[in-house]
Amino acid sequence: MNTIGFSVDTFHQEFIPLDVVKRAMKAAYEVGIEQIYTITQNLGPENINNLFNEQNKKIAEEISKEFEFCQVINSELQVRGRAVTQLSKYFSMTTIPSDKCLIFKLPMFMIDPNGWVFHQLCHGICIGNAKENSLSEIIGEFNYRKHPIIGKIVSKGGPQNLLEIAIEKGYKPQNGYADKCHLCYSVRNFLRPFYPNILQPSNIYS
Ligand code: SF4
Repeated sequence: MNTIGFSVDTFHQEFIPLDVVKRAMKAAYEVGIEQIYTITQNLGPENINNLFNEQNKKIAEEISKEFEFCQVINSELQVRGRAVTQLSKYFSMTTIPSDKCLIFKLPMFMIDPNGWVFHQLCHGICIGNAKENSLSEIIGEFNYRKHPIIGKIVSKGGPQNLLEIAIEKGYKPQNGYADKCHLCYSVRNFLRPFYPNILQPSNIYS
């Protein structure tokens, strides 16, 4: 492992004290992890003023001041996980987003405490479990275009391709979705029983 990222923003810090994150960052530095970064999700572009983004700015400043070695990354919040129930009300809904997901092009892998391995930074779509197979085996055999879920999301139509599968299995589409991630997450949530070894871990689904 040569990189570690920490989510640091007002949404995560409602549940995880910032001091806990800081302790983990220090530990990561002490054991020599080469790249340590924080990622802050903003509601809309970071220069848009709202209560969440103002709070985020303060948290990011605190981190930058205390941890010179840390790269502080800002991104726009994607509506998935808990954000679906808590934050989608702040977005205007579009009927069915049809843009494909572009995050899987870079070969970057993430592992969670239960051994689930993900390609890229999107939790909830597993490519294997490191408690069952070695990481090198999992990564060596992985081809994102052939993965049963990722392959659909990166194709033309994006998460809409998953929507079609879900509808066949009885999913009722909503009138609108905040963005492609909202659609992707909602459909994956429904499809979990059909892909029990892929749509994991359960704690990120509702
Ligand atoms: S939720 Fe779906 S569309 Fe959004 S980044 Fe993750 S895989 Fe891509």
